[in-house]
Amino acid sequence: MSARLLTSVIAGRAVPGVEERPNINPSDVSDVLAETSAADAAMAQWAIDAAREALPVWSQTTPWERSVVLDRAGSEVMARADELGDLLAREEGKTLPEARGEVIRAGQILKYFAGAVLQPHGLALDSVRPGIEITVTREPVGVVSVITPWNFPIAIPAWKIAPALAFGNTVVFKPAELVPASAWELVDILNRAGLPPGALNLVLGRGSVVGPVLTTGVDAITFTGSVSTGRGILQATVDSGAKVQLELGGKNPLVVTDDADLSVAVECAMQGGFGSTGQRCTASSILVATAGIHDAFVEAMQARMSAWTVGDARSAGVDMGPVVDPSQLAQDEDYLAVAREQGAQVVGGHRVESAAAGHFLAPALAIGTAITDRINVEEVFGPVMSVVRVDSYDEALAAANASTMNLSAGICTTDLAEAAHFRRHSKAGMVMVNLPTAGVDFHVPFGGRGESSHGPREQGTAAVEFFTTSKTSYTHPGQP
Ligand code: ADP
Repeated sequence: MSARLLTSVIAGRAVPGVEERPNINPSDVSDVLAETSAADAAMAQWAIDAAREALPVWSQTTPWERSVVLDRAGSEVMARADELGDLLAREEGKTLPEARGEVIRAGQILKYFAGAVLQPHGLALDSVRPGIEITVTREPVGVVSVITPWNFPIAIPAWKIAPALAFGNTVVFKPAELVPASAWELVDILNRAGLPPGALNLVLGRGSVVGPVLTTGVDAITFTGSVSTGRGILQATVDSGAKVQLELGGKNPLVVTDDADLSVAVECAMQGGFGSTGQRCTASSILVATAGIHDAFVEAMQARMSAWTVGDARSAGVDMGPVVDPSQLAQDEDYLAVAREQGAQVVGGHRVESAAAGHFLAPALAIGTAITDRINVEEVFGPVMSVVRVDSYDEALAAANASTMNLSAGICTTDLAEAAHFRRHSKAGMVMVNLPTAGVDFHVPFGGRGESSHGPREQGTAAVEFFTTSKTSYTHPGQP
């Protein structure tokens, strides 16, 4: 049976592209889920034009009409959680429970914004001058490009597309090349839920080909991906002045102090560092342990890691699926080699054999690293963590704040004063106490500081900031 062909969707119609590329299961490279018909630059422009044409229609709908569409789409996403979770696990390689959880979250996000759009977002107040009334209203920004990475193939698109549509914008959505099938399903569900043609367009194509078009002719760009691509997008928008929201890398520390509950600390590190194969921008990357707990913590981590099952993402009982593709696998291994060269002892990190050919890597821990080592400075994006030993909490805090990509930071401690101090003095955009650095809610702001983020926060109550533009109106009733 030939593989399914995935095409772009422009103005509600399936549009074939110019070259076909296989969509390969990272757990079993002989399994081709689909062929992607990749778009060229002209198709990307066509999608922008379609979104521009649909803007007067969609932006003039009532909040209730938009709410109904998002709610209906959210219901379908949730009702199909098993099927879409299986597709996601097969396409991206996170385990079935993780993939199903991500699909449910996408459904929750759609429903959250179905409700959010009905909430008040404006202001009405008296002027400081007599007799004048002021209103501050929110209007759509216009045509929004949504450019997403492969690591959350349905949740990240949902948390950008749902608020964009909720607040009356139209969208051109370009998912990562590795995960077109999950993206296609989300767009199909939203279009069938009642969007007018062109309100949501899907462009399947290479970032280097369609990206430059999608970042020039639009009113706003919301992007999650690498620091280098994000920087390029920012530069590309200098002339157009388009609104830009970037979620880039994270280099996330988890501090474990002498007062930590050891089993809580180990679980936080395991889930935060190796969940979703460590391929999360919020993944714990650097474990900073104070001297009194360091040895016991490292020993307990090794015991837990040796019982961690790596295998086909869709097999029962698997703790961790494969790395997403060969180039990411090579990057993970390169960083482990660099850590060894700089003096670390690496536990795990070997290739794992399996019945089917997949990109399987055992979880890895680089022990005995310095906070200035390369592995503690650059983003690895795999099932790789390192340990830094420090003498005191103060040193731990300084190490945790040494990164320039301050997305999420965690601390495991039973000392309330330490926890409170860390929350206040961490440089990260999100702080976790006795919780993994990864794993966030959808109804509160998400984002980092430093090189990690640019522009208004994503998700929850924060989303209105990026996806609307405000208007301040002054009204005088005329002469009395
Ligand atoms: P990652 O390492 O997570 O794949 P990238 O920044 O390479 O990060 O990719 C994130 C998204 O950006 C993907 O959808 C990719 O296709 C897209 N992309 C890549 N290059 C460009 C570009 N020049 N302009 C816009 N988008 C791009």
